[in-house]
Order: sequence, then structure tokens, then C-alpha cells
Amino acid sequence: MSYPLRSIAHLEELVQALPAEEQARFERIFQVDTTVGELVPPPSMHEWIKKFFGSVEAVQKQRIVKVTNLITVEGALFNELRASRPMEARATSDLEQTILSNAGDPFCKPLEGTPADTFGRIKGEHSITASNVAKYDGFHGLVIFDEHNPLRFTAEEVRDYIDTALHWAREAHCADKEARYFFLMWNCLWKSGASILHGHMQMTLGRGIHYAKAEHLRRAALLYRIAHGVSYFDDLYAVHKALGLALNYKQVHILAYLAPIKEREVLLISERLDGKLKDAIYRVLHCFVDTMGVRSFNLALYMRPLDSVTEDWSGFPIVVRIVDRGDPNNKTADFGAMELYASSVISSDPFQVAEMLAKSLSS
Ligand SMILES: [Zn+2]
Repeated sequence: MSYPLRSIAHLEELVQALPAEEQARFERIFQVDTTVGELVPPPSMHEWIKKFFGSVEAVQKQRIVKVTNLITVEGALFNELRASRPMEARATSDLEQTILSNAGDPFCKPLEGTPADTFGRIKGEHSITASNVAKYDGFHGLVIFDEHNPLRFTAEEVRDYIDTALHWAREAHCADKEARYFFLMWNCLWKSGASILHGHMQMTLGRGIHYAKAEHLRRAALLYRIAHGVSYFDDLYAVHKALGLALNYKQVHILAYLAPIKEREVLLISERLDGKLKDAIYRVLHCFVDTMGVRSFNLALYMRPLDSVTEDWSGFPIVVRIVDRGDPNNKTADFGAMELYASSVISSDPFQVAEMLAKSLSS
């Protein structure tokens, strides 16, 4: 099967074409292994294969690219053939109808339908906070959007949701000085784990140590700095930039990540949680929903603890991760044993994601 030159299938060649210094930096962070999977289909399968993959030859030899982030030990297996499977048209009208018919849920009337935190509620311009009924952690709140439809949001609203969550975090920290580790997440629609359809973010404030994955990233980045004397996050951006997989949007680094946890994962890295980052988050989400047709996604935000702690968080930026969780109409889960216990199997191409982001963010 032939692949376009600027595609994940040709990652090894693309890296080899980089200047020596860029190549060395890439190899400090990533290992790429390319292999070809072969099979022999019986004639009885030919028609079916042609229908789904275009030709029998297309499936006889399949190029598979395994990317491993050696610093964080995250891994992805890319097979473009999986992406080339024709998708059934997404029945978006059904989804719109379901969203509409769900109006009037408890989040539409948060004052009556949701509990408050002991320190009260934070009122944003377009949102209000609530206390989660069944908590993940001692402090576990929600930013409930005024807008019911989770796929309808503006730049101003996204900024307000994040500001309201941060305001909540400060109030929670005042209520318990030992709670210092803030985590912000946005699960959109069922495939992402959201149980309530109405638009909302969630946030927690933990004690003792940050959540395992945030702490893992801190340690990996710290060891990288000790070993190489430079910032892991700067190098990660430089590596993606050299390959055309990153863009600088108002000083926010946006990466079509080479070792995504699942489809189309984008990382945003910024020194500060300022208006530029909030705007960049909105722009990426807008691209996801309006350009790529994403309906269900997760967003996660990592940041340094709110107050002083004993471990070293110096140089740790704001890191936002956004991932597509697939079609809400598809019953098959996107996460299987491979994703949970081995390496993630990815159908999307980071080179295409980067291209779409660049186009969408420059308009
Ligand atoms: Zn609602």
C-alpha cells in the first residue's frame, strides 16, 4: 500500500531526513520501530476486503509504526489501514435530538438539582459550581455550564469555565490548606465517561501527592532535565516542531502528539494559565468539534500545586491534553486491553491532525 510522504507511516524516513542535531533530540525522546504485517486472504474474502479497504493488495502488506516515548514510556501503534476503513456517516441528527430531548435535566437547574460545597458555590458569567454527589476525592466539584448542549461553546464561555474552576480551587484550598493538587477535566458525552449529558467540567483538589499520572510526568521531566540539562517540555515541542507537528499559537505550544493515548490527541503546553492558553484551548476544541467532527472528548489540565510542597515542580508548565473518544453511536469501547496494558492502537495520523489544527487556528 502506498502512503503519502508526510504521514505517520513514513515517520522513520522523516526523522532520518532531519538535521543531525534535530535527529539526536528526537532520539533522546522517541524510539520508532516500523514493521510490515502480512496476510493471505482466501478468495471468498476478496469482495468484502475490496469493499472496505479498496483493494486486496492494500491489506496484504500493512505497515505498522510503533512509537515509544522513552521518557514517559507512553506508546502508540499506528496502522494507517485502520484509519482508511470507510466510516459510516455519523448520524449527528440523532445525537442533536438526544441532546435536545435531555434538556430539563438536574444540571439545567443546578440550585435545585445539585449539592453545594461546604464553602458555597462559585458563580461565573456563564456557569456555576456544584459539589459532586459521589466524590473521587475530598474536594470534587463541577463547573456546570449555563448552556445545556455540551458541544456548543464560545471562547468567552470556555474562559469563564476555567476561571470558575480556578476560583473554586482557591476556595477549596482556603477551606483545607493541606489540599494543594488541582486537577481539571472535561468529559464530553458518554464515550468520554461523562454520565450527565449537560455540559460540565469537573475538578478535584487532592492532598499528599498529585494524581499518579501527573506525578509520573513530573518525575519523567525532572529526570530528563537532570540527564540533559534542558527542559523536557521545550525539547518535546522542538521535536514536534521540526517534523511539522507543532505550532506556536500566541506563545502556547500546540502539539499533535506522537505517542497519543488515543485518537487525535493534542497537547497544549504553556508557561501560564492565562488568556492566551484559554483561547488556545477553545480554538483546539473548536477545531475538534467543527472541523474534525469530534463529538466525545476528554480534556485534562495539569499544573503545579497551588501552594508550596516538598517535591520539585520547578519548570513544570501548564499541560493540557485533549483526546477524541470516538463516535457516541458506536457501542464498541475505544479502550481495550492494548490501551490499558500495552500500547495504544491509533487510527488517526498526527500529521493530518497537525495540518487541520494549523488550518483551523490560522483562520
Ligand atoms: Zn441540561
